[in-house]
Amino acid sequence: MNFRDIPKVELHTHLEGSAPPAFIAGLAREKNIDISGIFDAQGGYAFRDFDHFLQVYEAACTTLQSPEDFRRLTLAVLEETAAHGVVYMETFVSPDFCGGGDVAAWRDYLAAMQDAADEAERTMGITLRGIVTGIRHFGPDQCKIAAACAAETKGDFITGFGMAGGEMVGRPGDYAYSFDMAREAGLQLTAHAGEWGGPSMVAETIRDLKVARIGHGIGAIDDPKLMAEIADKGIVLEVCPGSNVVLKAVSGWDAHPIAKLRDAGVPVTVSTDDPPFFHTTMTDEYDMLAKTFGWGADDFRALNKIALDAAFCDDETRARVAKRLEPKDE
Ligand SMILES: [Zn+2]
Repeated sequence: MNFRDIPKVELHTHLEGSAPPAFIAGLAREKNIDISGIFDAQGGYAFRDFDHFLQVYEAACTTLQSPEDFRRLTLAVLEETAAHGVVYMETFVSPDFCGGGDVAAWRDYLAAMQDAADEAERTMGITLRGIVTGIRHFGPDQCKIAAACAAETKGDFITGFGMAGGEMVGRPGDYAYSFDMAREAGLQLTAHAGEWGGPSMVAETIRDLKVARIGHGIGAIDDPKLMAEIADKGIVLEVCPGSNVVLKAVSGWDAHPIAKLRDAGVPVTVSTDDPPFFHTTMTDEYDMLAKTFGWGADDFRALNKIALDAAFCDDETRARVAKRLEPKDE
C-alpha cells in the first residue's frame, strides 16, 4: 500500500530541525559560514548521539539569521512535508533562535513565517500552526523569556507553548512559571518528556506543567498506573518512532512501545520530529509502522483523528482539516 497519499496530521516537528540539509548548506554558502563539519559525505546531517545532535542542530541554526531566512525555511519545510500527504502540521519555533528573545524582533520573524505559511496554504494545501518553545537546557529564566514572547504573540498562528531541548536538565517543576504564564495567555500546552527521562519525568510534567500533550512520552510504558492516568485524562502523546530509533531512545523498531501504549488506551499520534536529521518522512514512519506492527489504513485513519482532535487550532480550522481527512470516493 502507498502511504504517501494518505492525508495526514503531524503535531510534533521542530521548524529548524526540519530544514532540508541542502537548504542549510546553501544558506551557509551565501553567508560564508563554515559548518561543513555537520554534514556527512552524502550531504546529510551527521552526529554521534543525542548531545552531539543538539550541537549539530544549533550549528545548523547559526545560518538562520533573519526573518527572510525563516520565511524561506518555512516554505522549504512545508514543501517537503506536503509532499508526504501532510495537510495539517504544527511546528515548534523558538524565540531563542529568532532574535534572541527580543519581542519586537520575534514579531518580525513570526510575520515572515506566517507569510510563508499563508503562501503554502494557498499553493500546497497545507495548514501550519506554531508552538513557541522554550529550550530546557537554556534554563528556567530563558524559558520565561520564550513564554513572554509566546504570550505577546498568541493568535491565529501561534496557538501553543511547549518545551524542548535537553530533557535531563532540571525538573519539570522548575519551568512551571513559564507554563503558567502561557496558560493564562490562553495558549495550549505540550512539553517534551519521557524520551529519556522515564515515567517519573512524564508524571511530573503532567502534574507540574498541566500539559494537554506530551512530546514523546514513551517512558510511560514502564509504569502501568501512569499509562492508565494518561488514558483517563486523555493526554495525547506525540510519538516520533523514527527519531527514537535513530537517537537510540529505543533499541529498534521492534522494541518501540507505540503499539503497547495504544493497546493500553493511551492516545498516541505519530510525527517525524526533525525528519532530515533522522532520515525519515511521514511516509517512512507509516511504512515502518505497517511493517513492524501490521498497522493499515484504518489504524492510520484513527491515528489522524486523534491527532486532529488534539491539534492546537480553533474549531473552524479543525472542521476544515477534518474534511480533508475524509477518504475520497474512488
Ligand atoms: Zn521533539
